[in-house]
Amino acid sequence: MFADALNLLIPPACLACGSRIDEQNQVICEACEAKMMMVGSDTCSVCGSELKEYPCRACLEESFAFDSARAIFKFGGPVKELIHVLKYNGYESPAGYFALPIAELIESEPALQDHDYICAVPLHPVRRRERGYNQAELIASCVAYLTGLPFEMPVVRKVNTLSQTLLSKARRVKNLNGAFRIKKTSQVAGKKILLLDDVFTTGSTLNEIAKTLRFAGASKITAITVARA
Ligand SMILES: [Zn+2]
Ligand SMILES: [Zn+2]
Repeated sequence: MFADALNLLIPPACLACGSRIDEQNQVICEACEAKMMMVGSDTCSVCGSELKEYPCRACLEESFAFDSARAIFKFGGPVKELIHVLKYNGYESPAGYFALPIAELIESEPALQDHDYICAVPLHPVRRRERGYNQAELIASCVAYLTGLPFEMPVVRKVNTLSQTLLSKARRVKNLNGAFRIKKTSQVAGKKILLLDDVFTTGSTLNEIAKTLRFAGASKITAITVARA
C-alpha cells in the first residue's frame, strides 16, 4: 500500500543504476539486466566455480563439507549493486527478483529438487534486528514458495562474527570457528538440505554451516547462491 502511494510521488528507478523505469514491479532496467552475467555451464561439480583448471583451485585449498554448490550469476556490475541495496539499503524487492532464476534452476534438475527443505545462512539476532530482516532468508523463503519445498531455519548463528568481507581467507575460517549451532538435531538428522545465501566468495561461511549440519547427521547438503565471486 505504502509502496503504491510512494510510486505516485517518486517514479520507480532501477535499483542498480538509478535510471527511471516504467513498470512498477520492475527491479532493474533493461540495460542493467543485459549486463548481468550468468555462471557458465562448465563448472566444478563440487564447489561450482567456473573451471579454469582441474581440479579446481578452491577445492584444492579446502575440502568442502557440502556435496555441491551452484550459483546463478557472476558477482559484479548490476548483480553486485542489487545485492548491496538488498543487504544495506533496506530494499527487499531484489530478493524476489533473485528467487525466480534460483527456483527455475531447482525445477530444471531432479537432483536439486530432491531435498527435504530449503534453509538460509542465518544472521546473528543482533544484526538481524539492526537490518530488519535477513536477506538470505528472504530469498530462501521466496524460493520455497515458488518451488513448493518447505522452508526451515535449523541453524542459529551464536557468535556475532566480524564481517567476512574485509578478512583474509585464513582469518575468515578462524572467525567462523564454532559460530553456528543446530536448534534441534531431529530437524537435521537424515535430511537432505538446500542451503541458500546471497554470495559465494571463498565458501567459508557455507562450509562452516555445512560442517555443522553434517555433524548433526544431514545426509545431503547442496548450497545455492545468487552470485559467485
Ligand atoms: Zn539500470
Ligand atoms: Zn571446486
